[in-house]
Amino acid sequence: MEKKLIAKDELAAIAEKIAETMTVIAPVADEDNILFAPLKKGDKVKLVAGNTKNAPKNYMFPRSECMLKYTRTKAGVEFNGETIDAAPTVLFGVKPCDARSFWLLDFLFDQEKYKDPYYIEKRNNTTVIAIACSKVPYTSCFCTSVGGSPTSTEGVDVMVTDLGDNCLVEFLTEKGGKLADFFGGKKADKKAEKKKEEIASAAASQIKSKVPAKDIKAWLDANFEHEFWNTLHQKCLACGTCTYLCPTCHCFDIQDEIKGSDGKRIRNWDSCMFWLFTKETSGHNPRPSQKERWRQRVMHKFRYYVDNFDAIACVGCGRCVMFCPVNMDIRKIVEDISKQSQG
Ligand code: SF4
Ligand code: SF4
Repeated sequence: MEKKLIAKDELAAIAEKIAETMTVIAPVADEDNILFAPLKKGDKVKLVAGNTKNAPKNYMFPRSECMLKYTRTKAGVEFNGETIDAAPTVLFGVKPCDARSFWLLDFLFDQEKYKDPYYIEKRNNTTVIAIACSKVPYTSCFCTSVGGSPTSTEGVDVMVTDLGDNCLVEFLTEKGGKLADFFGGKKADKKAEKKKEEIASAAASQIKSKVPAKDIKAWLDANFEHEFWNTLHQKCLACGTCTYLCPTCHCFDIQDEIKGSDGKRIRNWDSCMFWLFTKETSGHNPRPSQKERWRQRVMHKFRYYVDNFDAIACVGCGRCVMFCPVNMDIRKIVEDISKQSQG
């Protein structure tokens, strides 16, 4: 595994240099926000400590995606093929928690039996360059409670660690190694390695928000009908912010849009927080109130994903904690469940 040392102030320019040859998605200023967006000529990359408001998941699994096009003719329907847009892309400046969300989404979209070609093609053609969190940005970060860390490398092709004046760049996969020439720099020495280890351990110790996320599975298995679920949801507005900002939420709805004879089949993000989400064509809704929807959110992340893939479907990024308009806090919900389980 190749490792290089580069000057810290070269980092943003490297993203801009890669953007001359392929699509680069990187954090850029957008009014008061820093958002992941395709880098256009003249854009400046903003490598700030905090999370972007939007998760880069959008570029593997777009909010709205055309799956196929067709034309209706007298003889029947003619399919005009799939429309997968998977040009070589670099996701630059991803936080380790957001990169870890790709590792989690791979379990779902790229299973042995069920394969999602739309996600898989983009994933295979995207190189993820992450920057380790040497300073933990928010008190709401809790990555260490759900299996991650400020320096975790799951889902990462190239990991960059800020060592002070310079950065250690580790090319972790073959895909990442193909970008080595863009970084230049010199071969990293043992001193840089040691400093990286110190930074990793200091960053992990900065995570003060600890949540017993790994301990609640048995209670969830046994308490689908528990009275705990009766009050949990009451202040939720069902706005869907928590699911739309979440890097691991992945539910979608499929609709046809038809104009004249031409049609498109489109999938759009959906949210278990919405009343329409599980409404059946009969009119029956198996999740009739926000109680059942919030139970589903908790069960999906901390029970069903663990059953199916042996991993919690949360990376502890804290976005849902920070942006819920009524301050629902998934950390407190997990803590409350943990208290229930202790009697
Ligand atoms: S549930 Fe909340 S904290 Fe966990 S990954 Fe989703 S947005 Fe981040
Ligand atoms: S962001 Fe808050 S109010 Fe909106 S759906 Fe999620 S929990 Fe409910």
